[in-house]
Amino acid sequence: MIWVVYVSDKPHSRINFPIGMDGGIWGVHDSKKLSVQDVKNGDLVAFVYAISWLKAEGAPPRGFSRVSAEKLEDFRGIVQKIVIGRVSQSYYYSEESVWPDDVYPHRFRFEIVKKEQGGILFGMEFYNKAFVEAVRYSACTQGSVTKTPEISKMEQIPAAADDGIDGFDVQEPKSVYEGKPIFRLHRSRERNSQIVKAKKASVLEQTGKLACEVCEIDFLEVYGELGKHFAECHHNKPLSLRSANQQTTLDELSILCANCHRMIHRRKNWLTVCELKGLYDEHNN
Ligand SMILES: [Zn+2]
Ligand SMILES: [Zn+2]
Repeated sequence: MIWVVYVSDKPHSRINFPIGMDGGIWGVHDSKKLSVQDVKNGDLVAFVYAISWLKAEGAPPRGFSRVSAEKLEDFRGIVQKIVIGRVSQSYYYSEESVWPDDVYPHRFRFEIVKKEQGGILFGMEFYNKAFVEAVRYSACTQGSVTKTPEISKMEQIPAAADDGIDGFDVQEPKSVYEGKPIFRLHRSRERNSQIVKAKKASVLEQTGKLACEVCEIDFLEVYGELGKHFAECHHNKPLSLRSANQQTTLDELSILCANCHRMIHRRKNWLTVCELKGLYDEHNN
């Protein structure tokens, strides 16, 4: 069983969260005791600390961080920490003082098994939907300890990779952008969304091939069967400042080969497909 606890970035949490993580102990208020009573030795608990909206995406959705289950796709942004602990002592009651404002007698103990921190991109593009929902629920209920019956193993917490039609397994370029949240977000969208599949299917249907929009290479033509469906998709409006309801359309995406795609992202200010095409034509006449 995996449990999820969302901890907000409030003044008391800033004090209490590190105390809990350092001591391997967590506790909840009387009003939340039902949520914690089934926590058992050996269970995993994922603590997700402090979500904020990614500014590059424009204004946050209204009431962000307390979104309803129907708006789960809006529950995304950057979280400061994710700590996963394995429960070493099942639920118990104790009034022994642990935190300065100690009103959390319903407790369990754990040992940390995994810790991530610093600008972790969060949302359904990055994590299992059931996990995101549990975090959302916990956030909406002031940190109740929330079950995720759909997930039993730690490996299931990240979103499953969905690589489009096929052969869309490309590593992030080892460039100046490596590890930067916005680039990761951009690449993640290019890799994971259903719309990428739809784009490839639509281009295939219309043109009978998946040729790079810049250099026109068609991997099927060059490599035969091995190169079939081998192409990348680039979001022309990488962070399109899209509001929650705004759907990506197929013409916001371009089909590119791996080289041209890397060239687009090589400069700090990403080139447009048109600009790269201009450079390409200029040097290949
Ligand atoms: Zn190309
Ligand atoms: Zn791109």
